[in-house]
Amino acid sequence: MPHILVVGSLNADLVVRTPRFPQPGETISGEDLQVIPGGKGANQAVAAARHGTRVSMLGRIGKDSFGDFLLDNLKSNHVDFQNVQRDDASTGTAIIVVDSNGQNSIVLSAGANGKVSSADVDNATLSDHELLLLQLEIPIPTVLFAARRAHESGLRVILNPAPAKQLPEELISLTDYLIPNETELSLLSGMTVNDIPSAERAAKTLLGRGVKNVIVTLGSKGALIVTDTQVTHVESFKVNVVDTTAAGDAFIGGFATKLLESARLLANLHEQASALENAVRYGCACGALATTKFGAQPSLPTKEEVARFME
Ligand code: ADP
Repeated sequence: MPHILVVGSLNADLVVRTPRFPQPGETISGEDLQVIPGGKGANQAVAAARHGTRVSMLGRIGKDSFGDFLLDNLKSNHVDFQNVQRDDASTGTAIIVVDSNGQNSIVLSAGANGKVSSADVDNATLSDHELLLLQLEIPIPTVLFAARRAHESGLRVILNPAPAKQLPEELISLTDYLIPNETELSLLSGMTVNDIPSAERAAKTLLGRGVKNVIVTLGSKGALIVTDTQVTHVESFKVNVVDTTAAGDAFIGGFATKLLESARLLANLHEQASALENAVRYGCACGALATTKFGAQPSLPTKEEVARFME
């Protein structure tokens, strides 16, 4: 019986490395095309599954070869895919150009991800799960509907508000753990976020709007936990960065896994605070490890890799 349900996107990432970005109207040559499984939903599902967590994915892919590729990938990562439907639209793709400085430029084509509907969520059995993981690469009304259903069924809701966009107030208030990066937090709060004090101030405004826990990921500065009873900065781990793609997804997969493991054991508020901190520290280790390898899903660490790294 799966423990985490991810309702979100599945993409084929089409990646070409080039010496520099082309100008409008210009053609330049790049290296060989790499086709890599991606999409924030699928990345987070695979990230959690690599820690041995039971995960189920709900989403849509096309009836094309990219769809076959993404389904095979879920299978080989032991993610349950019975709630992934084949749609007449093409599979979601991200066309990614990476220059010699490691900067990337991305065009997203939502394809079948744009058709994930509230009815899809209604047809799934939520009571099989303990935790719902959401992002914003599928229609917002579907995200809101899933959060409502989860709330009614007693699942805790983790929302990663990425890519950055405004949210309905109801969705904010249904969220147990909101995990934005600095850009997303800035957009949601309407405040500038560029350091730890400004992240704390902005996160507190979201607590006022009904979120129970805000965890701000701060890239190389680690992460900040802000709740009604706790403000804790968790340092990042020092690594040699190769590519930061999917650091946030790795963080969330690891964090969600640790949160599930600790949930059943906690008796009081003090234990809850330290369990939250442990889960965030574990997430930071996962995020740091993900930056040491190229690509989205190939960089997501396993439980064993994180254990070795944290020693
Ligand atoms: P996103 O990928 O969503 O923008 P972040 O860049 O904040 O998210 O990264 C998520 C987490 O990954 C951070 O909280 C941090 O723990 C880890 N991380 C990201 N970049 C680095 C880095 N350069 N060095 C060490 N850890 C990092």
